[in-house]
Amino acid sequence: MSHTYRDILLLIGGILLAALLMLSLSSAMIRSLPHKVKAIVIFRMDDPQPYWQSDKLKRAIDLFLEEKVPVTLGIIPKVMNKSTILEHSPFISYTKDLVYLHGDLIEIAQHGLTHLALSKVRGASEFAGLPFHKQLEMIKEGKNILESIDPEIKLRSFIPPFDTFDNNTIEAVRELGFIVFSAMYDEDSSIEIGQPYVDKGLVIIHATSSLKNWDTGAIRSYNELRESFSRVYSKCGVFVLETHYFLFDEKNTEKIRKFIHYMKGKDVAFMKLGDFGEGYLNRTIRKEDGYWIIGKD
Ligand SMILES: [Zn+2]
Repeated sequence: MSHTYRDILLLIGGILLAALLMLSLSSAMIRSLPHKVKAIVIFRMDDPQPYWQSDKLKRAIDLFLEEKVPVTLGIIPKVMNKSTILEHSPFISYTKDLVYLHGDLIEIAQHGLTHLALSKVRGASEFAGLPFHKQLEMIKEGKNILESIDPEIKLRSFIPPFDTFDNNTIEAVRELGFIVFSAMYDEDSSIEIGQPYVDKGLVIIHATSSLKNWDTGAIRSYNELRESFSRVYSKCGVFVLETHYFLFDEKNTEKIRKFIHYMKGKDVAFMKLGDFGEGYLNRTIRKEDGYWIIGKD
């Protein structure tokens, strides 16, 4: 092989290598560039537990996996104060599989301890009205149970059963290191719907609507769901839909699927509660000029 021929080959090789390097660098830059969306959508699924309607739990979770849409599961650690979920190995192995195989889409969150109504504050509550130390002890017990499912599980989000709580609940949740607290948006409060806020390090981001209308007991229609979304979307807010796994019969599952498809056609980002909370705290998710900016500058 002549010198010139080898040199040309080396030169071509060098150019190809450089081009490849630039291509991968620029695509990495595109990936890390912040992007903006008009609204954020978060699905909450409350009440996962063993023993009851596990076919609906699987159907509900499969919907989100199929649609590649994240969902935050509010798991009850010690249902009705009987045995803890740790004693139910099929449920534990199912949960572990979700964490290991679908950790990008599934967040494990804590939904109280027993889900028993221990007080009648605001109708029914597991926590509201109880002394601070009692609430702290109960929430800590539940947190320990959920985190002992697997070392991969680091709880970030707390969802109080019945969406009821008091200041002591917030204090206890904060002290235990959670970063997100999510109940139900209160129509009577001065806080604008779908606008999260930080309360001493804890991101408060309530559900803006629920699949079930708890006042009437009726399941919301597709049009009602769209209306509740539009209300938040028009204000560039965070739409959090509260669902319950046992409501996912075939009809409601297809309704939610259709609703997901509708929202996929809008300018939104789907995410888990905990991811939103983390990003909101470290400002990789922030609101500027009516848009949500997601990502680092
Ligand atoms: Zn519940």
